[in-house]
Amino acid sequence: MIMARIFNFSAGPAALPEAVLQQAADEMLDWHGSGTSVMEMSHRGKEFMGIAAQAEADLRELMAIPANYKVLFLQGGASAQFEMIPINLLRGKGAADYVHTGEWAKKAIKAAKAFGNVNVVASAEDKAFTYAPAQASWKLDKNAAYVHYTANETIGGVEFHWTPDTGDVPLVCDMSSNILSKPVDVSKFGLIYAGAQKNIGPAGLTIVIIRDDLVGHAQPTPPAMLDYKTHVDAESMYNTPPTYAIYIAGLVFQWLKKNGGVAAMERQNIAKANLLYDYLATTDFYRNPVRKEDRSRMNVPFTLKDAALDEEFLKGAKSRGMAQLKGHRSVGGMRASIYNAMPVAGVEALVAYMKEFAAQKG
Ligand SMILES: *Cc1c(COP(=O)(O)O)cnc(C)c1O
Repeated sequence: MIMARIFNFSAGPAALPEAVLQQAADEMLDWHGSGTSVMEMSHRGKEFMGIAAQAEADLRELMAIPANYKVLFLQGGASAQFEMIPINLLRGKGAADYVHTGEWAKKAIKAAKAFGNVNVVASAEDKAFTYAPAQASWKLDKNAAYVHYTANETIGGVEFHWTPDTGDVPLVCDMSSNILSKPVDVSKFGLIYAGAQKNIGPAGLTIVIIRDDLVGHAQPTPPAMLDYKTHVDAESMYNTPPTYAIYIAGLVFQWLKKNGGVAAMERQNIAKANLLYDYLATTDFYRNPVRKEDRSRMNVPFTLKDAALDEEFLKGAKSRGMAQLKGHRSVGGMRASIYNAMPVAGVEALVAYMKEFAAQKG
């Protein structure tokens, strides 16, 4: 057992469950008697095909993904999806609707504009992206090709704690930083996508869950690699997939199942987030600008009363075994990312340190 593990609050690539890393270490040189590591296997051999099939089956079970949805294991990150979504889903329609909630929504909007008309149907820009706009304020177009929103703004710390209802217009969701953190009703979505490196596994794997009627209607026909149909037809094996990242994601899915699935994760994530937000409510030494009901359970940004203390705060945290708390450069201050793999003890240690630091400097 390695005892030098720290509490890693990185926004992504983020901490993985220690049990998963331990199992991967145990299986590194010889996976299940195969005499090779997973990294060295043919993606078309029966061992790896089994690993990938199990990972998909476990993800389907965890998220209760209906049979009429395809699960794809792709590459290119959420950023490639910012482009593949308009390329595939505009389907010759006039425009797509986007909800603007911060840095990641902004990137998705900018990318989509290269392929068609984008209507920003709601925006939280009026209050510096500190809230999730209520659906009643969305100016939806019933002829839109799809409606896109960002379920959790990883940088701003704003999360939708409800699922929009867009009727017959497909709902498309960037779930990169809160997928598997709570139960969601997949049948409400046309497409869900997530880069793995926040709440699933290593960077390099991107998960796409797409309703099957949305596959194969791109206009004009895209280059093969950018066409969902290519990857659906080839069952994510059109070319070499990110095999090791799929294997680790599969171990994470098994770890989730062993630990009560997404319902148990939600309970634990609420408890962890409450530890931080309840403390923040008692102090004016630290500040989180996000509207209470929209605060993220995954990424908790906060600023210190005096930014001149930031470096000292980070240094003290590091000496207590807590790392990667520095906030995003566009926001400043701190950010504690507390995904599924962050144990309650990590958040408790952080809150204890925040109290101590505030008492010393306040
Ligand atoms: C990290 C992140 C992205 C970008 O992911 P890449 O894999 O780097 O392309 C997009 N959206 C959200 C919400 C993210 O957290």
